[in-house]
Amino acid sequence: MAENVVEGPVGNVAEGTASAGAIAGASADLSCDVVIAGCGVAGLYTALKLPRDKRIVMLSKGAFEECDSMLAQGGICVLAEDADYADYYRDTMNAGHYENRRESVDIMIQGSRAVIADLVGYGARFERTEDGALAFTREGAHSRPRICFHADETGKEITTALFRAVSELPNVTMLEYTEMTDVLIGESVLTEDEVVPAAPEADGELLARALRTPTRRCMGVMARARDGAPFAIRARDTVMATGGIGGRYEHSTNFPVLTGDACRIAQDHGIPCDHMDYVQIHPTSLYTGKPGRAFLISESCRGEGAVLIDRDGNRFTDELQPRDVVTAAIEQKMAEEGTDHVRLSFERMSEHEIRTHFPHIYEQCLEAGYDITKEPVPVVPAQHYFMGGVHVDRDSLTPCPNLYAVGETSCNGVHGKNRLASNSLLEALVFARRAAYRIATGRSLPVRRMPQDVFERLASAPGEKGAAPAGPGARDEEV
Ligand SMILES: Cc1cc2nc3c(=O)[nH]c(=O)nc-3n(C[C@H](O)[C@H](O)[C@H](O)COP(=O)(O)OP(=O)(O)OC[C@H]3O[C@@H](n4cnc5c(N)ncnc54)[C@H](O)[C@@H]3O)c2cc1C
Repeated sequence: MAENVVEGPVGNVAEGTASAGAIAGASADLSCDVVIAGCGVAGLYTALKLPRDKRIVMLSKGAFEECDSMLAQGGICVLAEDADYADYYRDTMNAGHYENRRESVDIMIQGSRAVIADLVGYGARFERTEDGALAFTREGAHSRPRICFHADETGKEITTALFRAVSELPNVTMLEYTEMTDVLIGESVLTEDEVVPAAPEADGELLARALRTPTRRCMGVMARARDGAPFAIRARDTVMATGGIGGRYEHSTNFPVLTGDACRIAQDHGIPCDHMDYVQIHPTSLYTGKPGRAFLISESCRGEGAVLIDRDGNRFTDELQPRDVVTAAIEQKMAEEGTDHVRLSFERMSEHEIRTHFPHIYEQCLEAGYDITKEPVPVVPAQHYFMGGVHVDRDSLTPCPNLYAVGETSCNGVHGKNRLASNSLLEALVFARRAAYRIATGRSLPVRRMPQDVFERLASAPGEKGAAPAGPGARDEEV
């Protein structure tokens, strides 16, 4: 375990202290520059993109490994070629039933290359073609392959790389088994640096009045240590990165610790949440009939040729439609047949392809008693992803000053009513970077597409000439 990774609360993160992990001690209130609740990709990437002179405290409700980021199988989208922009944009909007916030979709797509190049720089390995370029797979509702992947454990690969990088930062303290229970909201006068970006139109008398008037703002969080002891973490800025809501469902692919805490806390303080009913059900989780987290059979299996079949072995739907449409088709089939599952057949794929592209899925199914190289596997829809969440702007700032929300717990509108497969890791990373930039500079990160040749050079394997340097913090703007 790295030096700055500790279990439970430690003493104060004193001014100038390099690593609070070095301070062992009883539960006590802390103070720092930025507190981040959540250690999935959204929280980790925010920490990495903040300047190194910020003292940061990160909280993980359960074990560090218990985040959905570790579970992502299919991959992460990227705008690999300029010519794909219109199709990628359309696919995302189509899946979202055109309820997506258009600006957010554009920001996500434009920011995708910078994120992938950065991940490669942090050491995340993606599948490559024989000539060393990134290889792309395809999932449902994508009009073409544009998904970077690492076998069927892309999330683990990315999260582990980011976790390793954060663990090496002397300015970050990570507290495991420590839960954010509330946010600290108080009143104080904002500085000019804070007012101007939030209300650029304010000038003269308006600005003077804003600078005199105490404003309700977030000043940190209340937390609970593993032994149940409550303590406060005072911070100039607070980032909620607490993931999804699957822990509230009986059947979900999510970790049970993910219970939508940020949304509950936001609502308690009158901070708006959007689309709390926009919940994605994944069409294909492994059916075992047992309680507990449902194992996901990635959509990329269907993207690579696996088909859904009924009791008699007949296909009954187009497997590459958006998730909500495929889920509805499965539910209808189960109702017609009076069964509690349908089956997924891999017979169009070679044994080699199954074992190399989907080794984790192959092993898990085998453990449950199904050899997918020889027989179909029973599948059933399960709660999977939350498109709603705490309302945020293009920089992941909530309507409450100094309070940000990133990743699955936030709603910047990018997914609309239904998420396009493999857009969520990307969205979490793109908008985490924006939050970090806003916290560090008070300004909005400019939206610029990285030129294709620069992307191709930066996305070459780590260690090779031209690979992206590990992120220097929020000073870097997208190119
Ligand atoms: C099985 C599965 C497969 C998936 N496959 C893909 C895929 O292929 N591509 C893709 O793009 N997306 C995929 N997703 C979705 C994607 O993994 C998630 O949307 C994304 O990882 C969310 O990242 P996050 O950082 O917001 O949350 P998470 O990674 O879930 O992290 C949440 C963090 O918040 C912490 N936390 C929660 N509550 C509190 C609290 N009160 N106090 C302190 N900490 C708290 C948790 O401990 C955890 O550290 C998949 C999801 C699942 C479940």
